Amino acid sequence: MAANVLVVGGGYGGAAAAKALDDVADVVLVEPRDRFVHNVAALRALVDPDWVEAIFLPYSELLTRGRVIQGRVTSTDGETVVLESGQRFTPDYLVLASGSGYPFPAKVNIEHNRDAVATMRTTHASLAESKRILLLGAGPVGLELAGEIKAAWPEKEITIVDRGQDIITGGLPDEFRAELRGQLAALDIELVLGTSLATQPPTGPGELGAFTVPTHSGRDVDADIWFRCYGVIPNSAYLSGSLARARRESGHIEVTDDLRVAGHSRVFAIGDLTALPESKMAKAAGAHAEHVADNIRRLLDDPSSSLAGYAPAPASISLPLGPAGGASYAPGVGVLGPKETAEMKGGHLRMDDYRSLFGLA
Ligand SMILES: Cc1cc2nc3c(=O)[nH]c(=O)nc-3n(C[C@H](O)[C@H](O)[C@H](O)COP(=O)(O)OP(=O)(O)OC[C@H]3O[C@@H](n4cnc5c(N)ncnc54)[C@H](O)[C@@H]3O)c2cc1C
Repeated sequence: MAANVLVVGGGYGGAAAAKALDDVADVVLVEPRDRFVHNVAALRALVDPDWVEAIFLPYSELLTRGRVIQGRVTSTDGETVVLESGQRFTPDYLVLASGSGYPFPAKVNIEHNRDAVATMRTTHASLAESKRILLLGAGPVGLELAGEIKAAWPEKEITIVDRGQDIITGGLPDEFRAELRGQLAALDIELVLGTSLATQPPTGPGELGAFTVPTHSGRDVDADIWFRCYGVIPNSAYLSGSLARARRESGHIEVTDDLRVAGHSRVFAIGDLTALPESKMAKAAGAHAEHVADNIRRLLDDPSSSLAGYAPAPASISLPLGPAGGASYAPGVGVLGPKETAEMKGGHLRMDDYRSLFGLA
């Protein structure tokens, strides 16, 4: 009899781990949504209706032997996994890949594809009608959203407010920021840095309605619509018993260097959920998935095997500003401009890679 592996979450990491183990184990992938969301392309889908349907990929062709259960894990202590439906599992190996939440539209926390597509289209219509857009947060999501909006509607006015003194903080060289700042200025995107809103906008995010909000610097911002472009929350509230002790205050899960949860020899954690000192990226989640699948294969061959350690990757990034703009950075390569960034990412947003993972060549 093959061993059972249960994977919690069918995002970038969970889908890759489930697929990588499908031929050697009885895999169950538990995911609340009826489709995978390729959120790397979500901001393009917001401004370009041709992309909306394309970013939601069915799970039907992902696994050959294993199964995908549409459901939500409500608790696990590492031994028993309980779903919202009441279904219970006691897998031989557990892979926690429940990732993180982020404000819409960067991530789409809507279970049914039909509703997710409708919400995208409604927000697109509101954005199309607005003239002045306020984005809160000058990190990768705020800048990428500004670039997408300008590429679709060059005449719209965009203001980005961030309490930080510069755009994109953390582990990236000044040269990369300077390249982006130059492109943002050329696109006439206004940066209001070193301050934050003194009051919340009267409308909800993504809702059409003119307003003026003051900032703590004394500068007022006029806008017709706004989006929150900050606020990652790891999805780890369902961990219980001794497994919950691995949860840091931030919600991230502490893992050992072989990507197991400390004190649990058969429980692994991957992707955005982990407290690894590494950028939270789909690419990293995929690398963790391959690493954990290899380690589980070793244990399946011989339960006393020693496991391989994972080396976190240094910071690198590819940040499009629309299909033809943006900048990238990788150690040993340096900073790349709009042409290379469009070729590597902005022009296609890696749609084919993920269609291929999901068996949709
Ligand atoms: C706009 C945007 C652009 C990005 N661009 C890039 C990029 O170009 N390159 C890159 O490498 N990274 C990019 N990222 C980062 C990347 O999206 C994340 O790092 C990635 O989503 C992490 O993958 P994950 O599998 O760990 O988690 P997620 O993708 O968050 O998947 C977690 C899954 O678990 C499910 N889940 C949650 N709770 C439960 C539960 N209780 N039970 C069962 N299932 C559950 C969720 O529904 C979800 O499907 C981008 C992020 C954003 C927001």
